[in-house]
Amino acid sequence: MREDWPPAKITLDPEKRVLFLTKDLDLIKQQLYHGLNLKMEDLAIDDLLDDINTDVMTPAWVCFDHDPVEIAKNAYAGLMHDGIRVFNENALKNGNFEVIVSGQRKGTGSSRETAPQCERWAGINIVIAASFAPIHQQNNINLGQLMGDHAMLERLQNGESIALEEFTTRYDEVTQIILEKGGLFAFAKALKSKEIVLPSIDTPSRPMTMAEKIIARNLVGQDERQCVKPGDPVIAEVQGGYSHEFTTAQVHTFLQNEYGEDYFLPNPSKFAVFEDHLLYAHHNPKFVQYMDKVQTLRDLQIEFQKHTSVRDYSAKDGVSPGICHQVAREEFIEVGDFIQATDSHTCMGGASNALTWGVGATEYANLVSSGFTFVKVPESIRFELKGRLAPGCTAKDVILYILAGHAREELTLNRSMEFGGDGLASLSIDERATLCNMATECSGRTGICEADDLLFEWMIQSQPHLDRDTQRSLSVQADEGAEYHGGVHIIDMSQIQPMVAHPGDPDKGIPSDPTNGANIADIGEVAINIAYGGSCTAGKADDVAYYALVCQAAEDAGLVVKEGVDFYIQYGSGIVKDLAVKQGWHNLFSRVGVKLIDPGCGACIGAGPGVSITPEQVTVSAINRNFQGRSGPGKLYLASPLTVAASAFMGTIVSWNDSLFN
Ligand code: SF4
Repeated sequence: MREDWPPAKITLDPEKRVLFLTKDLDLIKQQLYHGLNLKMEDLAIDDLLDDINTDVMTPAWVCFDHDPVEIAKNAYAGLMHDGIRVFNENALKNGNFEVIVSGQRKGTGSSRETAPQCERWAGINIVIAASFAPIHQQNNINLGQLMGDHAMLERLQNGESIALEEFTTRYDEVTQIILEKGGLFAFAKALKSKEIVLPSIDTPSRPMTMAEKIIARNLVGQDERQCVKPGDPVIAEVQGGYSHEFTTAQVHTFLQNEYGEDYFLPNPSKFAVFEDHLLYAHHNPKFVQYMDKVQTLRDLQIEFQKHTSVRDYSAKDGVSPGICHQVAREEFIEVGDFIQATDSHTCMGGASNALTWGVGATEYANLVSSGFTFVKVPESIRFELKGRLAPGCTAKDVILYILAGHAREELTLNRSMEFGGDGLASLSIDERATLCNMATECSGRTGICEADDLLFEWMIQSQPHLDRDTQRSLSVQADEGAEYHGGVHIIDMSQIQPMVAHPGDPDKGIPSDPTNGANIADIGEVAINIAYGGSCTAGKADDVAYYALVCQAAEDAGLVVKEGVDFYIQYGSGIVKDLAVKQGWHNLFSRVGVKLIDPGCGACIGAGPGVSITPEQVTVSAINRNFQGRSGPGKLYLASPLTVAASAFMGTIVSWNDSLFN
């Protein structure tokens, strides 16, 4: 690996090259395979690829390797031209590049950390783009990758040397130190050895949002009662976290590399591992060839668990205890906690009035080994929910509405999405979890809901060892006068109609995206092949109750699932399945022709039953994201559990109403 990075003066190595990711894919091939060298001064930013998605950089199958060296071999494996890979195996590494250049918004999509890893371990030290997706930017920082703009590249290519500060000054003081040290691991070690001391923050007493309050009370190395404001770079204690078999192997390997084979965790009982994401991956024909790698990931997770004694949520007899986010909220997230885990839907825990968000393996490895994490306090946006859900609507329709409006306008970008109001109070805790879950699709930092008696009751029922008064005392409420940089938005839920997010028309440049909102009443007749109910978003008890409501009505009307449609339901956890069995829903589902899948997930990465197999297939799904290709090559409409179930019996996308089957 590179030594002594970064130097105080940044220059281009005359032995190395610069790769431009141009919209003209032939130009990329000429650079990769025919030695073409381009200069920034000969190109316009418009010539460069925008919105490079992390799934393009490292598709799911590439992530079955946990070693970044192996991941780097398949860098950009998802960039296709006429169905053929632009980047052959090892193309990026063999090209001897040290700089990679693209246009706007580098690193969009699911923000997987393997994406910047594939560049770093292929020899890239400097990443140039006009702008970066926030989580991708943070992952680059954690890996010590320098980011710059096109003007800086032009100067470098003209032989100038640029002071390191010029690459770092736009960041806060702590981020600057992380970059100067060469990444998060080196930073954490320097902090531990007291080689560096964190700057104290001087934010005066001020009204705070819910997210700010939870960060403030977890501050490390600051005065008690210190307030925070957006942008403050702080170190904060976490109350817990978890990883799953898709990510744990990297965490284990990184800790071994940094702290030796005999590393230990100071507080293992606060953390957990889950076997939930790849348990059914073999159902996807494309993934069958990678099952030996999947097994390695499972084995390494077991090794990590045994080595560290973190809480163990391994599968038993081939059945997962459930999706990490669902089980975590059922079993150990408490009101007011600060939780971080290695999956983008960690934000679902916000339904419990906790601050929860996803991090990459590097960040997670650091926080499990130290117990604290580096946080740049996010801005907030508040959604004041009013009124009651209209018939046929669920919380999923509310978040699809927010996606189509506020998120599409980037109002939610990297902000904590705070939900409150009497409309929120009318929603069940599971429904609130749907809102928080999809904060990540809104490109928000997280979602967090106000606490109330309904929440405290749910907490006691889920975790009987908890004390109601303690939970109440741990809860946070936004202060009067708290500042919302994203604004306060009043949403009358009664005005929201049943919605979908449609798959766009990627061939015409309209990408399949969760922000493609449309009222079902306006989409015309859309015939479906697959209906899927499940995932962390829609495998909760109340979601399954929605499926049961529709299935019971269908049975009463003498209907079974429409011929030619496969309707899958996957329970979010063992507890949800037990409930379905107890309520008689499980048998009901079987009687009306639903294909039932045991607890677990993998839905949004195509790792399980229910994914499309051909581009012609149309799916209506209660999951969270419809980025092209993630759940198979077909077209995917996102919708509510009620819409998914109703559509399964009608064969076309329809919203639910009591007389639908009459
Ligand atoms: S939908 Fe499933 S696979 Fe996707 S992030 Fe949520 S838990 Fe993971």
